[in-house]
Amino acid sequence: MGNLSILKLSTKMIEKLHEVQLDSLEALLRYYPSRYETIEDIPVSLWKKGDRISLEGIIVQPVKTTRIRGKLSVSRFMFQTKQGLFNLTIFNRPWISNITSTMTIFGKYEGDHSITVTQYKGQALSTLLGIHPVYRVHRDLSQSDLQKAIEKALLLRDLALIQEFPIDLKEKYKLLSIKQALKWIHQPTGSEELRQAVRTLKYEEFLRFQTKLQYDRYENIEVQAGKMKLFDRRVIESWIPHLPFTLTSAQGKVLDEVLNDLQSPKRMYRLLQGDVGSGKTVIAALAIYATHLAHFQSALLVPTEILAKQHFVTLKSYLPSSMKVEVIYASLPSKTKKEILERLAHHEIDVLVGTHALISEDVKFENCGLVVADEQHRFGVNQRRLLSAKGEKVDFLLMTATPIPRTMANVLFGDLEISTIDQYHQSKKQVHTTLIQDLDLKPLIPKIISFIEKKQQIYVVCPAIESDGELELNDVNTVTKTLRKLLGNSVLIDVLHGKLSTEAKETVLERFTSNQTQILVTTTVIEVGVNVQSANVMIIYDADRFGLSQLHQLRGRVGRGLDEGYCFLLSASEEETAIERMKVLLETTDGFIIAEKDLELRGPGEIFGLKQSGIPSFLIANVVLDQNILMTSLNDAKMMISHQKDPLYIPWIEDCLLEHSTQLLD
Ligand code: ADP
Ligand code: MG
Repeated sequence: MGNLSILKLSTKMIEKLHEVQLDSLEALLRYYPSRYETIEDIPVSLWKKGDRISLEGIIVQPVKTTRIRGKLSVSRFMFQTKQGLFNLTIFNRPWISNITSTMTIFGKYEGDHSITVTQYKGQALSTLLGIHPVYRVHRDLSQSDLQKAIEKALLLRDLALIQEFPIDLKEKYKLLSIKQALKWIHQPTGSEELRQAVRTLKYEEFLRFQTKLQYDRYENIEVQAGKMKLFDRRVIESWIPHLPFTLTSAQGKVLDEVLNDLQSPKRMYRLLQGDVGSGKTVIAALAIYATHLAHFQSALLVPTEILAKQHFVTLKSYLPSSMKVEVIYASLPSKTKKEILERLAHHEIDVLVGTHALISEDVKFENCGLVVADEQHRFGVNQRRLLSAKGEKVDFLLMTATPIPRTMANVLFGDLEISTIDQYHQSKKQVHTTLIQDLDLKPLIPKIISFIEKKQQIYVVCPAIESDGELELNDVNTVTKTLRKLLGNSVLIDVLHGKLSTEAKETVLERFTSNQTQILVTTTVIEVGVNVQSANVMIIYDADRFGLSQLHQLRGRVGRGLDEGYCFLLSASEEETAIERMKVLLETTDGFIIAEKDLELRGPGEIFGLKQSGIPSFLIANVVLDQNILMTSLNDAKMMISHQKDPLYIPWIEDCLLEHSTQLLD
């Protein structure tokens, strides 16, 4: 929308606003208050100790100010009001003694006619009554700066540019106009008006998001016919017995869904979700095999180089030896890379494994028909769009090991079909989980030694790499030192974390995989995909620092081989909610239940880790608390997209697809 210059603010103010990304009218108007303060005139006779109160009166001189030190001071004075005299205390505002006119003070009632003042205004109480917005302030940008700028923006005629709802939806839900809602969210005239404004803007936010998503879905699946794969399913069926295990019925069901998609003229755009270790890779392999039978190449994308190499080995073991599998990653010699790319362009490679960078670089297939992206939760809607634009009408299979509760899946992946492996295979071993409410390693040492004597390897996961002095987190370096001291030289300990060079990571992982080292002290880098079958013990430091789903992912690294796994959650937290949370892991190993709990307890942002998750951060709507609105908006968006030629919906849909709306969502 418009530029801020139209507001005729001072250059200084414009600069301040820009600094915090409030650089357009749209952004300013969408800077919703973080909370509200209600100012009421309640008679003193109804006050109770501890109440937040407001009171009008005049300072009775003298004001007694005591300097504590530096800028710290405390001022005490009497306050004359229509309801009698009060004893007031205010901190760090010695200049208050200069005020001689009527003022209104806000603060806490301490009982017995005493008040601790937190704020004051030089106006009569009657002019201040009502609900007032409180904005999140930034270093240089004050509450009143924001209020003034937003007030000016609200007065503009330009607000007419705001895209209003299609009229049928507005009437159906008795919504406010968006313009009205914006006025009331910033300047509510009463609590009912505020409620209406919040309700309208929540719906608007979800509806915009869902409109985009459903439009993508329509484009991807309905419009762009895929490259239909012609292959004989019997060939796949006769290959399955050659796999190192029997597929579970859940895997069979999901495989069917994927093969149907491949054979259909519609483009596949499917999310495959299944808990850690539920066996998604083999499904990817069989889809790749089917694609090969139809004379197309495939790409398998993973988030890390380590995983690329592992998948390369695994894929080869799942595919007939006649298929040509290759892996490409940054640290390969450029000559080798060039060779691979050439062979790829001539279809001398059937499937290429690589990191997600594969897609952004200039990689040309002769005839790519399928892209599988593993650990999909690591990238968002926009990256998916990029992928989608790159690969011409290829089929997409996106895999995630973060079980996503249904409501979340609808929000995040409303543009996808979803398949779920909801059952573990027999060989998935149990992981015994224990919560230890202590951070001392000593009591665990005898256990550690006995595990090592049984040729078991151990992961020790820490929330930080090095000590930063401030947060008292246990870090990789310190814990490694402690372990070396307690265990002596006979036990070999390595460290693995994101700050190591790729080469160093490789070496460390190689040593651990081949059982040369017994203990790997690490961070959450091992969360994704690392597969070492003789490592069956995991000790997680400061477990309360991690999300439940993340702990579950970490725990999924053990119990992958022939032996049962052991997981020790160490935490010194005394917070009851934190302890409750960790106990969920002792009670269940079902990733879906855990994800659902996590969502309930921590909110969506924290589960996935906002930054890498690609999860949209909503301004006002809440995916957990506003599920009804979410579902309603999903259905309305579907309805609009299926009637997208209707003039009633064209302006709304077009506006949603415009840039300015997308920046709000990502
Ligand atoms: P994820 O879903 O986490 O990617 P993987 O595909 O890596 O899981 O599989 C985890 C482990 O389970 C692998 O060692 C794999 O060989 C094994 N596995 C997969 N499916 C089955 C099955 N149906 N029966 C037995 N083992 C299986
Ligand atoms: Mg996997």
